Amino acid sequence: MDFGCAECFGAETEDAGVVMPRCLQKAAVLRTLTLGWPTEVVHLRQCESCGQDYVVVYLEEINWEGSHDAEYDTLVPITRAEAASLADSRILRADIEDLSPRRWLYHERQVDRQSETYQWFKGAVTLPETR
Ligand SMILES: [Zn+2]
Repeated sequence: MDFGCAECFGAETEDAGVVMPRCLQKAAVLRTLTLGWPTEVVHLRQCESCGQDYVVVYLEEINWEGSHDAEYDTLVPITRAEAASLADSRILRADIEDLSPRRWLYHERQVDRQSETYQWFKGAVTLPETR
């Protein structure tokens, strides 16, 4: 099973650093939720071209030493039923990790804002520990 169209999720042979920003631009935010902390933001998004649903989890590392915190984005394509179920409940980390297994995207921006990585993952969805 695969997800999305060439304008959003694309193929796994594409550079994750190209696909993820493109997907975020193409898939508008339908709903914003939190995982519990204000720095843990969950966006339910949908591609404007093909209607594919996505859940995007934004986590920020709380860094008391300075103002620049590390940031992590996890983007997972989801079915319409999964989107409805997530929109309907108070989201927990397990709800995201239970979406496994599938192909998903990960973005990490380190504290110094110099190092950024984009990666494809396949299989279990895991969220980074930020506290
Ligand atoms: Zn699409």
